[in-house]
Amino acid sequence: MAATPDPEERSTAGPRERRAIRNEIAARRVNERIAQIEARGRIASDGPEPGPSAAFVCECAEPDCRGRVRLDAALMARVHAEPDRFVVCPGHERAEFERVLFEVDGYPVVEKSALRT
Ligand SMILES: [Zn+2]
Repeated sequence: MAATPDPEERSTAGPRERRAIRNEIAARRVNERIAQIEARGRIASDGPEPGPSAAFVCECAEPDCRGRVRLDAALMARVHAEPDRFVVCPGHERAEFERVLFEVDGYPVVEKSALRT
């Protein structure tokens, strides 16, 4: 007699993938804060331009990743307009969980199909 299929197994996102998604969403929250602070700094300062890019954290699945993504805050905001898209350092994409859509300034933008369901 066949074993009852584990509902977890049948779900599009397994436990490992869900942990990965949690890490990525946490990194994304950090980056949304960085973007807010960056935007406020630009409005507040009348001095020299604060520079074209902000230092965001890598939004990959690795909880210990210390990667930095130097990207224009407006570009980051455009990626974040889609809730299932994340910017990672080159080489940090995980083919088993996500698919690279395109690159912004050399950083891969990945899509988590599991978040679409
Ligand atoms: Zn990373």
